[in-house]
Amino acid sequence: MKKLNLKKYTDFIVKETSDLLSIDSPTGYTEEAAAWVKKEFEKLGFKATLTNKGGVIVDLTGKDKKNGLLLEAHTDTLGGMVATIKSNGRLQLTNLGGMNPNNAETENVRVVTKFNGIYEGTFQLNNASIHVNGDYDDTKRTWESCEVVLDEDVNSKEDVEKLGISVGDIVCFEPNVRVTKSGYIKSRFLDDKLSVGILLGLAKYIKENKITPKRALYAHITVFEEVGHGGCGSVPEGCTEAISVDMGCVGDGLTCTERQVSICAKDSGGPYSYPIVQALMQAAKDTGADYAVDIYPHYGSDVEATLRSGNDLRHGLIGAGVYASHGYERSHRDGAENTLKLLIGYCC
Ligand SMILES: [Zn+2]
Repeated sequence: MKKLNLKKYTDFIVKETSDLLSIDSPTGYTEEAAAWVKKEFEKLGFKATLTNKGGVIVDLTGKDKKNGLLLEAHTDTLGGMVATIKSNGRLQLTNLGGMNPNNAETENVRVVTKFNGIYEGTFQLNNASIHVNGDYDDTKRTWESCEVVLDEDVNSKEDVEKLGISVGDIVCFEPNVRVTKSGYIKSRFLDDKLSVGILLGLAKYIKENKITPKRALYAHITVFEEVGHGGCGSVPEGCTEAISVDMGCVGDGLTCTERQVSICAKDSGGPYSYPIVQALMQAAKDTGADYAVDIYPHYGSDVEATLRSGNDLRHGLIGAGVYASHGYERSHRDGAENTLKLLIGYCC
């Protein structure tokens, strides 16, 4: 395979990822993000449709319709929901997905009301002034010990209700996107918006290079992945294989870095299809994609949901390395480029 020059596509991936990160989409509140995703694939010249559940199915063309390949990435993220309006006018939250108060503390938030627009606030420890609270250091950060302080003149439950805020309102945490000169991408929710950006990069590559993939190729940009059922259903007819494109794990005991593409051999759901892992490794070798094979100790993927919902498929999982997952995450444009390279080798 000839050497691929993917700089233009990697630039595009970083731009698209940043744009998508600017649209709040905690799991259960993904309509705007999904509409954006649909429009971006359409702009590249592909047919995209919304599923009833709110995901986006994209037809990336391809020849062998009886042996289709489905790529899955998710646009839903972690977040919060108003659980209780406290008598002092603060909000107690419940988590959406695996949002963790230990790394959410002091983050700016947006509270999305059903009928009265959006209000700003900060997620803080209860009684957060260190000069006042003697237990500041020793308090375990939980959804009960932390609260949203609204940036509104409110001192009681009634004041908050008058704003139109109610139990069940969505709370979005600021992603804080930064792309450094050295190519690092830092943000909350790179899981899995970076992969959505990568699939857009793949679509652009297919279109501009007038490629017809060997096999019918589809993308499903799922919602509800963070609560486990994103990949259930909506498998296009003729698909015999599904690959999750989701964040690759980086941490102690694993070999992947943020600059590589990770191929997952096994996670909490068990081993991935042996021939698929092998073929993904071969595609990485053929394209010169810098890759690592790892086992993820605490991880479940969309494609496992696809299998558990009753589909007969071979399955795999790849993704750019992401450090500090479900916190303030970090990846690198090389990780995105290596993932794209591997996908081009595997799909095109
Ligand atoms: Zn994910």
